[in-house]
Amino acid sequence: MASTGIPEDVLRNEKLIKKLVEIAKDAALMNGILMRTKETPNDSEVVGFAPFALFPSPVPRALFQQALAVQVHFNLLVDKISQSPDFLEEALASTIKVDEFTAKLFSIHRQVLQEGCAQSITLGLNRSDYMLDQAEDGGTSLKQIEINTIAASFGGLSSRTPDVHRHILQVAERIEEQKKLLDNNPAAGLARGIAKAWELYGSEKAVVMFLVEDTQRNIFDHRYVENELWKRNITVIRRQFEDVCQTGSLAENKRLFVNGQEVAVVYFRNGYMPQNYSNEQCWDARLMMERSLAVKCPDIRTHLAGTKKVQQELARPGVLERFLPNQPDVVAEIRATFAGLYTLDMGVEGDKTVDMALAKPDLYVLKPQREGGGNNIYGQEICQVLQGMTDSSERSAYILMDKIRPCPVLNYLLRPGGALRLTTCLSELGVFGAYVRRGKEMVMNECVGHLLRTKSSEHADGGVAAGVAVLDNPLLI
Ligand code: ADP
Ligand code: MG
Repeated sequence: MASTGIPEDVLRNEKLIKKLVEIAKDAALMNGILMRTKETPNDSEVVGFAPFALFPSPVPRALFQQALAVQVHFNLLVDKISQSPDFLEEALASTIKVDEFTAKLFSIHRQVLQEGCAQSITLGLNRSDYMLDQAEDGGTSLKQIEINTIAASFGGLSSRTPDVHRHILQVAERIEEQKKLLDNNPAAGLARGIAKAWELYGSEKAVVMFLVEDTQRNIFDHRYVENELWKRNITVIRRQFEDVCQTGSLAENKRLFVNGQEVAVVYFRNGYMPQNYSNEQCWDARLMMERSLAVKCPDIRTHLAGTKKVQQELARPGVLERFLPNQPDVVAEIRATFAGLYTLDMGVEGDKTVDMALAKPDLYVLKPQREGGGNNIYGQEICQVLQGMTDSSERSAYILMDKIRPCPVLNYLLRPGGALRLTTCLSELGVFGAYVRRGKEMVMNECVGHLLRTKSSEHADGGVAAGVAVLDNPLLI
């Protein structure tokens, strides 16, 4: 196992660790690393700390910088895909035949396309996630897990975690490591994107609407972004699908009104999972928002651009070139982060993918068109699932991906009520991108910060909200 950057004798010094854990929990609460409790997810009377790692985790500096540098290119790529209806149609054709959720999203996209887009301002806030793949020869490379174009979370809380780790390292007398911690403020950058879109919308009285879930444990993560907007005198309202169903309407020029307030920007922090749409009215509400003049973050086509099927299609030879003509260096930078991605569509190519997966399931991850963690399939289960549908088009609801093998490191993962245990961990680096386009003009295109999440290596799947991963910070090595 590679060094954590924190020496093992420190990690195994029980007395010190006990003291640090106590201090760390207080520091987390004092710095606002907060999450509502499972018992009272819609009330802030009693809150806990959001799960986090006791120590920051090592990340090679060059790979970290590579991830930051490629972000503006990913922003541009996602934006171009969203403006390519033919590509989206082709890429998702097989998926929407068998995946009802993607099909419903796609039908909204079709309808908006037919009607013509009411709004020429596009706001994209995404997070590209990576793991650092350890090759047999010991080399490490940056490999993209996925890009999230909707409801990418933890830009708020991750703006506050550096100070917690700084304090822990101070108390632990690890001043050299402390110096290597980076500042991070995705919340400010995400808010800057929203504020820019709001400003371009051009109506001072109009509000920014966060479309939120009915269970709001992670509200503090939203609040950091929200409060940055209030500081700019931008009014923010938080509404659920139900509120939009009941009080939403389109006025002249398709202006969106909710509760009597004009909405300039809809920021979706919900709407990425089938269960978010509890009834047909929720779908009607999504359609109304998509048809409206409000700037949507993301709009339906950018949402679709972030699907796993699109990710797999992008990995085909020649596809990146189609979106980024005459930019071979940019194409190379993006492609360097791609892991092997394989179609499961019906046909010879898909059959080959099935054979490959059945022969060595441990080398792959089987992914359905879902977001939010906990949906992927690993190991022997891949065989069971694939064998259950070899000759059925059901399999095109999935893609197959090379399994990335990051280098394990030791750490303590802290959760309210969790046992204290030195754990073998794997980390996933996320990079936040923000862009705003008006018509043909890119008004903003930035990398606005990062997120490190760390989980026990016992868990194949990740996700902080899913209760597996915890918040962390990179310690550049
Ligand atoms: P979701 O949309 O559910 O977040 P992801 O593609 O991000 O889907 O996968 C969820 C988790 O599964 C990731 O956070 C990561 O821990 C793990 N994972 C996904 N793809 C791979 C892969 N190719 N190799 C190793 N682990 C992976
Ligand atoms: Mg993910």
